[in-house]
Amino acid sequence: MNRIARRTPSTVERLAGLRRRLAQTRPAETPASPQGGAAGAGATPVDAVLVTNGDNRRYLSGFTGSAGMLLIADGAARLLTDFRYVEQAAGQAPEYEVVKIEALPWPAVAAQAMELGIRRLGVEAEDLTLDGHGRLQEALQAAGAGVELVPLRGFVEHLRQCKDGSEVEVIRRAVEIADRAFESVAATLRPGVSEREVAWRLEVAMRQRGADELSFPIIVAAGSNGAMPHHRPSDRPINAGEPIVIDMGCRLDGYCSDMTRTITLGQPDGRFWEVYRTVLRAQQTCEDGLKAGLTGNAGDRLARDVIAEAGFKDNFGHGTGHGVGLAVHENPRLTFSPAGEGVLPVGAVVTVEPGIYLPGWGGVRIEDMVVVGESRCQVLTTAHKHPLVAAGG
Ligand code: ZN
Ligand code: ZN
Repeated sequence: MNRIARRTPSTVERLAGLRRRLAQTRPAETPASPQGGAAGAGATPVDAVLVTNGDNRRYLSGFTGSAGMLLIADGAARLLTDFRYVEQAAGQAPEYEVVKIEALPWPAVAAQAMELGIRRLGVEAEDLTLDGHGRLQEALQAAGAGVELVPLRGFVEHLRQCKDGSEVEVIRRAVEIADRAFESVAATLRPGVSEREVAWRLEVAMRQRGADELSFPIIVAAGSNGAMPHHRPSDRPINAGEPIVIDMGCRLDGYCSDMTRTITLGQPDGRFWEVYRTVLRAQQTCEDGLKAGLTGNAGDRLARDVIAEAGFKDNFGHGTGHGVGLAVHENPRLTFSPAGEGVLPVGAVVTVEPGIYLPGWGGVRIEDMVVVGESRCQVLTTAHKHPLVAAGG
């Protein structure tokens, strides 16, 4: 019951932050400030936002149920949910007026929008389905409400980029669970074990240490399978000396961890050491140089340049890192693509995960999570990076 009654004071600040973003969409209220990530630049004005995304709902309200929507305007914060969650929502989201959905959700939203006199309602374009959008529009028309639906992208996600102290603390615990689970399982691995078996042992080890669930399906990729960055574990037995990429993480109190280590069971070939040391150097260089104010593109280059200089430019095809929080992949992004044009803010939690993938041989990836600070970053991941696991009995 404690968990349900717990109130996070930060939801007050988050709600205020969202209302500031609403105001930024209205040009009359803000002098033009076409800042990266701001809602203002070229945005259609909206006077309320309908939050349908589950992570955003939890972030803004504290409500952890699996169904519900938030309707937030300047003077109103309402949480619409059904019979199953009314009591829980009232306990977890004290800043919100809880509205019970009696029958269908969309007519309930339309009725609330009418009551609040909303003219332009922002919806989460990356979350609301085409079907939901159609049904909401029908419900609004049926209610005779002249409400225009305005698609918003990354509206709430932008706020989620900067983690506060309590979020970092939960993330740190989720990281710790994965780190210790990895170390305990890695030490027991011997040639002949299958990728699938390793993944299962890692899952059990994380659950035994208190993980609520996996943050994504565990990747165990041995030998040539490791050349595929997101290979799914198979029944293939692992041979001595092969590189084994293990990418894993758990969820704790809603927040995710994400880490990768590459190991080998017994002595690897000479190429392994060359590749491993290059990836490790790329990661270290990036972690040494990463700080707030850099763009995601610049952060990506810190690692990418090291790999390119070592002659593996074409063998590192993915971004260097991504934000982690309530979602395992969120903004900001450390990447060479336009997704990395945004500036890294203080308090962002991101991964640093360079890799080198050689078709037919395998791959090496090493991934840590870090908190971005003003002049440097702090590494959260503490799992060791000694790749050699003894192959003998
Ligand atoms: Zn990962
Ligand atoms: Zn990752």
